[in-house]
Amino acid sequence: MSDPSDALASAKAAADRIVKLKRLNACLTPIKELRKSLAVQASTAHPSGVLYGMPVAVKDNICTLEYTTSCGSKILEGYRSPYEATAVAKLKAAGALIAGKTNCDEFGMGSSTEHSAYGRSFHPFDKTRVPGGSSGGSAALVASGAVPAALGSETGGSVRQPASLCGVVGIKPTYGRVSRYGIVAYASSLDQAGPFATTVADTALLLEAMWGHDPCDSTSIPSEPEPVLARLEEGVAGLRVGVVEELTDVEGIQPAVRAAVDSARNLFEKAGAEVDTVSVPSVEYGLSAYYIIAPAEASSNLARYDGVRYGLRAPAAEVATMNALTREAGFGAEVKRRIMLGTYALSAGYYDAYYGQAQRVRTLIIRDFSRAYERFDVLLAPTSPTTAFELGAKTSDPLAMYLSDVCTIPTNLTGATAISVPAGLDAAGLPIGVQVLAPALGEAVLLRAARSLEAGFAFTARPTLGEAA
Ligand code: GLN
Repeated sequence: MSDPSDALASAKAAADRIVKLKRLNACLTPIKELRKSLAVQASTAHPSGVLYGMPVAVKDNICTLEYTTSCGSKILEGYRSPYEATAVAKLKAAGALIAGKTNCDEFGMGSSTEHSAYGRSFHPFDKTRVPGGSSGGSAALVASGAVPAALGSETGGSVRQPASLCGVVGIKPTYGRVSRYGIVAYASSLDQAGPFATTVADTALLLEAMWGHDPCDSTSIPSEPEPVLARLEEGVAGLRVGVVEELTDVEGIQPAVRAAVDSARNLFEKAGAEVDTVSVPSVEYGLSAYYIIAPAEASSNLARYDGVRYGLRAPAAEVATMNALTREAGFGAEVKRRIMLGTYALSAGYYDAYYGQAQRVRTLIIRDFSRAYERFDVLLAPTSPTTAFELGAKTSDPLAMYLSDVCTIPTNLTGATAISVPAGLDAAGLPIGVQVLAPALGEAVLLRAARSLEAGFAFTARPTLGEAA
């Protein structure tokens, strides 16, 4: 596509599809505003970019100039960022059209997109179920065909888990590969943006457009990433694949998910890879360590929402009361829970017992994965223990909700990379995902292995626009 009228047509078609899928509550941008912005973007987009004319929806915790950035929170309702995220700027420089902001759990805290101040999102295959989270709106829009690609963010699995539940591809790049500049901080040592698409090739295309060193992010990796798209079809002959025992036999795993991992294993073997099982014992403690580290960092990052600088302000006669009333009114229950957990974990006398200990566990997990990668090039595991669960099933039981990320969170703690690939449907017709994991900076081999699985599974299930739940 290099003709501006094609870009305009593509923009218009995306907006039409988003309107048609309004019931998913996946896009937070009002339709009039979306149409207007897409038309402007289509007529000014750079025609020689590799993403020219491609509508890409963006999670609401990623700053854009075109639309508000509310992070799914009341406290940032109507907030307009004065700058845009580097990842977004890079996608635009490649010709992409930013197709609205997607619904998410407030500040990325959740696994179902039910913790959004703007209402929950729905699964595109089944309106009684969740699309996963926290980037559920992005996953639902891609799965339902409204947009070919979307941006999400991960702190603990929030791209891969909804990708798995919705039947699309989602990657968590190595920490520091995609700039965090303009991505609203949840837990800074874990946060990383990643794309969703329906194919591994499109995922790689977006990744190549958005990653690379950024002087605006002090944790950005200074080296240039190696190309991934050109090596996608190299196959997996001779590749050593380790099936992670602890994640495959995780408590509560649905038999169909377990079976999908076995199918993935067989596909790898058929394609010439050498597959064996591997133990990564400390992954068992991943969830516990994460739920100390992430809330601790969140409690510090979210201190900035004080009613003075951003968004909501609850009027009061003196400042401390204004701060307290603003936070009381602006944050949802899950965010408050995280702030309290994090503040407690960091408090004097408890710091070493909680935060210090969690950091030591994090080091242990990194060490165990390094050992596994001495024997294997990539690892294989389920993405989530279950397929999409019913709306409301876990909202009153935070622990059950947290367990949905048990297989994805270890990767965030190590800073490495992993990708979820659709692997079939369960008996209820809901998508199953399996994930491939690779060491830090291993995106080339990761995507190559994912491409091989994609070819083997040949997953095509999509709700058609009319049928989307
Ligand atoms: N579900 C996890 C949490 O609530 C992860 C969220 C994320 O990756 N943004 O913290």
